[in-house]
Formats: sequence, C-alpha cells, structure tokens
Amino acid sequence: MDWAGRLAPYPSDTVRQYRASGLWGTRTVATELHEVAVRRAPHPAVVAAEGSLSYAELDKATDRLALGLSNAGLAPGDRVVVQLTNRLESIVAWYGMLKAGLIPVCTLAAHRAHEIGPISRKVGAVAHLVEWSPSGFDLVAFAVEQQVDHPTMRLVLTAGAPAGAPGTSIERLADTDPALARERVEAIQAAIDPDDIVCFQLSGGTTGVPKVIPRLHAEYWYNARSYAEAGGWDESTRVAHLIPIIHNAGITCGLHATHSVGGTLVLGTPVLDQALPVVARERTTDVLIGHGHFGIVDHPLFEEAMTAMKRVVLSGAKVPARVFEAFESRGVWVGQKFGMGEGFFTMSTAASTREARLTTVGVPVSPYDEFRVLEPGTETEVPDGAVGELACRGPYTIRGYFDAPGINSSAFTSDGFYRTGDLVAVRTVGGERSISVEGRLKDLINRGGEKVSAEEVETLLMRHPRIVAAAVVAMPDERLGERACAYLVTAGEPLTMSEVQNHLSSLSLAKFKWPERLEWIPELPRTPLGKLDKKLLQRDITAKVTTGR
Ligand code: AMP
Repeated sequence: MDWAGRLAPYPSDTVRQYRASGLWGTRTVATELHEVAVRRAPHPAVVAAEGSLSYAELDKATDRLALGLSNAGLAPGDRVVVQLTNRLESIVAWYGMLKAGLIPVCTLAAHRAHEIGPISRKVGAVAHLVEWSPSGFDLVAFAVEQQVDHPTMRLVLTAGAPAGAPGTSIERLADTDPALARERVEAIQAAIDPDDIVCFQLSGGTTGVPKVIPRLHAEYWYNARSYAEAGGWDESTRVAHLIPIIHNAGITCGLHATHSVGGTLVLGTPVLDQALPVVARERTTDVLIGHGHFGIVDHPLFEEAMTAMKRVVLSGAKVPARVFEAFESRGVWVGQKFGMGEGFFTMSTAASTREARLTTVGVPVSPYDEFRVLEPGTETEVPDGAVGELACRGPYTIRGYFDAPGINSSAFTSDGFYRTGDLVAVRTVGGERSISVEGRLKDLINRGGEKVSAEEVETLLMRHPRIVAAAVVAMPDERLGERACAYLVTAGEPLTMSEVQNHLSSLSLAKFKWPERLEWIPELPRTPLGKLDKKLLQRDITAKVTTGR
C-alpha cells in the first residue's frame, strides 16, 4: 500500500540487517499461520468454552471467511474497526481478515463513539466488525449508528449474530468453496509486502484521543516469535489468555506467539469464574496474568487451574510478594513481563534469579532490542541505578505513530528511540542487567491494564456547565491496581456521581474511563511555579483510600 507519508518506516539498512539476521521473515502473518497449520493440522489450535478448532479446521474456516470477505467487496488494504471479545469466532475473524488482506483496527468492545468515531475516520475504515451480544450494550446498533456521516465506512460486519439481525454476518459470508478460498487467499497474500501494515493497535495514550500504532507483518510475527522463545515454548505448550485478545498483548503474547510454535491457545474470558474451569480442564501450561487478575490466587479454582501449569508471567504493575509466592508454592515458575503496543518487550529469563524475577521486569526479549534510560525531556542517559525515562528501539518497536508527524517529533528521540513515558532504573540482579519499573511520566491511569488518559477525561468533565476545573488522578485499588478519581471544582452545587456519569455517557466516553470517585475542592492545588500539583492530589487520595476515608 502507498501510505503517502503517513507511515514512519524503519530505515532500509536496518530492515536489511534484521532480515539478514533471520529476525524478520519474508511472509505475511496469514502465510505464517498457514505454514504452521499445515504442519500441525490435527492438533488443537484454539480451545474455548464454546468449542475448539484444530489447526486444519482453523486454516479452512479462515480461508473461507477470507473468500467471503473478498466477495463482499472488501479489498486488500481496507481497514476494519474491530470490537470483539474473547470468543472462538474472534480468532476465526482475526485470521480471516488477515487472509483477505484486510487491516484490523484493534479497538476494545468497551469503546464508544468518543473513541471509535475519530479512530475510524483517522484510518479511513471501510468496515466495522462487531460482536452480537444478546444482553448488555448493543454493539450492532452502535456500529450502524457509527456509519452515519462517515465518509469511508460502508459495511457493518457481525460475529455470532442470528439470522435477520442488521449487518452482514461473517458466519454466513464464509459459507463458500474451500479450494477456491485457498486459491484466492494465496493470490491475495502473494501481493502483500511483508513490511506493510498488518494491523493497527491503539496506544494507551496521554492525549485527547488514542494514538494509532501501525504494526507490520514481519516485525509483528517476529515480536510474537521472540516472546514465545523467551518463554521456552514449543508444540506442547498450552497457553491460556484471559485478558482482551484483540489488543496488543492478546494478539502478540496470546495468539501469534502460541501459533508461532504450533501450540494451543486456551482462550478464556476475563471473568475468572468462567475462565478457570477451562484453564484447568485443558491442562494449561502457561499464562500471562495482568494485574487486574492478581486476585486469581484467592479464587476457589486457583489450585485446580495450577495443576499442569509450568510458567506464569505477571505483568502490568508491581508484583506483590504474596501473589508471587502463591504461584511459586504450587511449583510454578514465576516471572514478569513489561511491554507495550508500540513494541519493546522485556521478560524474566530461564536464568533469572528468584530476586530478579520478583523485583524486576527482566531483560529485552530480542538481542537486537536497544534501550536507554534518559533524563526526562532530554536525550542524556542516566547511569545504571538512577531513575529515568525508558526509551527504546529495535526489530519490533515502531518508528512513529500512524499519520502523526507532530506527535512523533516529541514521542521519539532524534535517532528513533520511542520515549515510553515510563520511569525505570537498570539494576543488575543475579548477573542480569534488568529493568525495574519505578513509575511513569505520562498522565494516565492504568485500570487493570486498560489505560485512561487523564487529559481526555478532564476535557470532557469540563464540558459540564457546573464544572470549572478538573484533575483526574489514579487512586490505588486492590483489584485493578488503579482506578480514576476526579478532583473537581464547581460553579454552584457539586454534581452527584450519577449526574457526572450521565454527562460522560452523553458524550459517549467508554465506561471504564469514568471516574469512580469524586472529590470536590474549592480550587486545584498549584506548585510554586503555578503548575497543577497532581502529585499532591495523588498523595491525598492514596492517604484517603489506605485509611478508609
Ligand atoms: P499497552 O500499550 O496498553 O500494552 O500499555 C503499555 C504500558 O503499560 C507501558 O508503557 C507501561 O506504562 C504499562 N506496563 C506494561 N507492563 C508493565 C509492567 N510489567 N509494570 C508496570 N507497568 C507496565
């Protein structure tokens, strides 16, 4: 595709080096999957509560969907906004889209018009794929509404919808000839450059609307492969994934990494009561646990879920010793992972000492990853042990957000290192030069892995006529790690929580971003230099929460 300057490329000599070193392949992600599927045909590729698919079945089902999508007029390079949860049909939809040469835009099922509208216009989406959900929010009706006044959008696709529902059902589209389907997929894939965009992910983002991350076929598959290698995975590995699958960690660590080694994905929902029986029944060997799920160690099915477990990787926040020890005492290897949609992953290694696995997020997963710890706002490195901003570059870290030259000039260093906004220190523990996460510069709330931009919520809060100032900060939460608390200044009577919720709902902001506590104050505190003093608010809410006020 010609992205006409909207895609920041990797320098061509760097690409040559990654390819010559065997890091980047020459195939598209869909072709990589097909090659593994041929080799592992009778073995289970994915197992979920609602059923399972062998590699051969997955390969066939996704070929047929690709032909259906292609016959429906979707052409290679077309962007599809995706709102699907962790169900078997989401996996078929994912590879089906890739096989048709389509570019999935990975938004969350929880996103609403405030997020979907601008993202879908920015990427010029032509289709919107949503899940049929018989109860709760009606995503199909939402997608139909989103088509209005959308210059490029022309098709609502549905997954799991009954006959007669609005939109075009992907299950009914897919009912076509398997041989013809394979032929069409091969023709489509042969024309795709492995260095072209495979999907768009969304950045956690600190700005008004999430930034769009373009991931490329070869580097994205390499990212997954190197994660699987770091975990010591092989064909016998059975990987459970419980956090959203259509998200970077889901696609990379759950789906692609598992399939890159021919293993089995055990797909669960984020609800432990539903997921853990499947995890136990499928004799799962590996799982990535986000901090929203650290409470798994107190779940009545925990013991059962650990029966065949070999390795558990914890991620998203500082790991409490109690959680670490609960896994360890069941004979499970426990490590940590740190990573982001923009690329760069670190992980504990098989050689990491217990102390390194407990207190650090490990080392980069690729020998070609590069990182620096910088004095914030500069390109000056700080010495090991000192805290600074992590900046990284390497064989699967983007060189720029999609169509964002203004943002890219400050989000990357002059030599292409991505400034993560995370505060880290390098510590040598047990002989390994490991990264320890110490905090963050970026103004966001990490709610069980979902990122909430403080600025985005503040701007919307201040659209209410009775709110004159707003500061959103993270308040500690035992289950989710953090939740949003809004400090507000009113012109008149303070609003009730439900008035604030109605206001944010009327602005179509995703619910997980709504503040869950309101603190009304006469004015927002300022530093001696007149800047908003969020640190003080942070300390205030932390003290209140920890003392139960
Ligand atoms: P995302 O792109 O949504 O995966 O979010 C990436 C961000 O999540 C990172 O830049 C960090 O701020 C945060 N994060 C990821 N892993 C960890 C971890 N192990 N510890 C602390 N923060 C983390």
